[in-house]
Order: sequence, then C-alpha cells, then structure tokens
Amino acid sequence: MIWVLIWAAVIWVGGAFGGLSVTRRWQLTALLGAVVLLSHLVLPEDAQIRQALGGSFASWAVLFAVIALGALYGRGLAWLKARAPKVPVAETDDGPFSETELNRYARHIVLREIGGPGQVALKHARVLVVGAGGLGSPVLLYLAAAGVGTIGVIDDDVVDNSNLQRQVIHRDADIGTPKVFSAEAAMRSQNPAITVRPYNRRLTADIAEELIGDYDLVLEGTDNLETRYLVNRVAAKLGVPMIGGALSQWEGQVSTFDPASGAPCYQCIFPEAPAPGLAPNCSEAGVVGPLPGIIGSIMATEAIKEITGAGKGLRGRMLIYDAMYAETRVIRTFRRDGCPCCA
Ligand SMILES: [Zn+2]
Repeated sequence: MIWVLIWAAVIWVGGAFGGLSVTRRWQLTALLGAVVLLSHLVLPEDAQIRQALGGSFASWAVLFAVIALGALYGRGLAWLKARAPKVPVAETDDGPFSETELNRYARHIVLREIGGPGQVALKHARVLVVGAGGLGSPVLLYLAAAGVGTIGVIDDDVVDNSNLQRQVIHRDADIGTPKVFSAEAAMRSQNPAITVRPYNRRLTADIAEELIGDYDLVLEGTDNLETRYLVNRVAAKLGVPMIGGALSQWEGQVSTFDPASGAPCYQCIFPEAPAPGLAPNCSEAGVVGPLPGIIGSIMATEAIKEITGAGKGLRGRMLIYDAMYAETRVIRTFRRDGCPCCA
C-alpha cells in the first residue's frame, strides 16, 4: 500500500513541481492503477511485488474506480462550463450603458447571437428609415425599442385619419401633424436613450447622397416608386445596404439589397417601374391593417441582424408573405447583367 501512495505522491506532487499537466498526471495515475490491478491479476499470490503492494484485487479495483469516477465528474463539469453560452458583461460604471439601459436590453444581451457586443453595435448604429407610414411605423418603434443609437426618419406627409387603421406609431391626436414629428415623439417616449433625427421633407435626388451617406443602413418602406428607385440607386452607389419592404393588399415582401457585397439591387429585380396605374398603391388598392406590422417587423429584425451580424440575412433572397393564405415563401434573387443601377 505504502508504495502505491509514494508513487501517487511522486506523480501529483513531483508532477506539479516538474510542470506536468493535470491531464498527464491523470494518465500516469491511470497507468499506476493498471499496473497494480494487473499485478494482482497475473502474478502468483506469493510474488514479492504483490506482497509489497498489499490489499486484494477487489479492494484496489474499488479504490481506483472511485478515483476514476471523481475525475470523470470533474472533467464533465469543466466540459459543461466550457460549452455554456458566454454572456458578455456589457456593463460597468464606465461602460457604454447605464443601469437602466442594461436592464432594458437584458433580453437582447442574454441572446448569444447579440449579447453585450451586439447591443453596443446597436447603440453605435445609424439607421435611416425612409417613410414613416405603414412599414415605417413598426420599423421605427422596434428600432427605437431595440436601442439603435441614431435613427433618421424622412417623410413629407402629415398624419391623416385614414392612416390610423395601420400606421400604429401615430395617434388620433396626431392628425394634421407631420408624420416625422409624430413618429419622433412616439419613439422618444418609447426610448429616451436614443437619438431621433426627423427630416420633414421628401427625399429628393439633390439631398439623397448627403443624407444616405450619413448612415450605415437604410430601410426603405415608402409606397412611392420614384423614391424607392432613388434610394436604391444612391444606396448602391455609396455601398450602403438597403432593406426594402413592399406591400399590396394581402401580400408583402422583404429583401436586403446590397450590390457592394455581390447581392442584387432593387433594380436588378425590378428593372423598371410599372406604368402608372398598373401598380396601385395602398390608398387605391387597400391593405389589411396588420400586414405592414408583420412586414415592418421583419424589416426591423433584419436590421438588427445586419447590425449585430446575427444569423443569415436576406441578401440575394426575397421573403414573400401571403396573408390571405397564411403562406410564406423565400425566393432566390440574382444580379442582372446590364442593371442600370449596379452593373
Ligand atoms: Zn442592380
């Protein structure tokens, strides 16, 4: 017995001094166990080594089994610990978030794909939303709630009674108010920690480059085709990704247009605007109230993914939601040779 203890001490104490890794020391311990057990198994009972070791095969087997179980348990715990999702601590007193913000974004921070770094990226992000109507409503509210640090919103419209069936960022009392100011008030009251930049004007070619160039990401959700083609053209030129959403009656679509990364632009897929009258807008054709909420929420989700790098976005893919039949499809989209915008 004493010899086994001496060898064990040599392995563990001597190994520690000699710089042997814990794994190597466990391997040597296992070897020692094997030698002891084997000598009991194969040597005759009166052999000198067996006499020196003492004990019986069964007592040594039980002892080494207990030691092995203890070692396995420790290893299992270490393995589980290594696999547990790391929750980055975004906050200290001098970090980017106040206690209130940390608490507000806690459900993001615990998501492994967002975490503390993702929430910091959201805080530093600058997102321009074109249109504060049906799609703009959920987009602006969710981006504000998500803690996107700087949100620009451009629209030249005022809130109308007929908007309120679906444009949930505006209230009855806002009728007659410019939409960007009504949206700004709603976003600020939702999340006072963000910066909102309202532009109460139409997005025109003379300001588009300067404006879009000021942002990392554009979300386009107007039902004005001229504006959509303009935003697409300028965003493609500046290399700013554009998440575009569109609606008609019961159907909506979302895609990320980003020719700078090899994905098609809007004009690759829709080379020309349809003739006037062939693509009626919401006021002419109607739209079911929650549909912009669904499509706009998908846009906001894609924006959060884009900023934080989570998951797989909609570059080169278009998600189509058919509310009438409760069906969703995703189609592949491709660059078009000779696209007047990005070729
Ligand atoms: Zn193109």
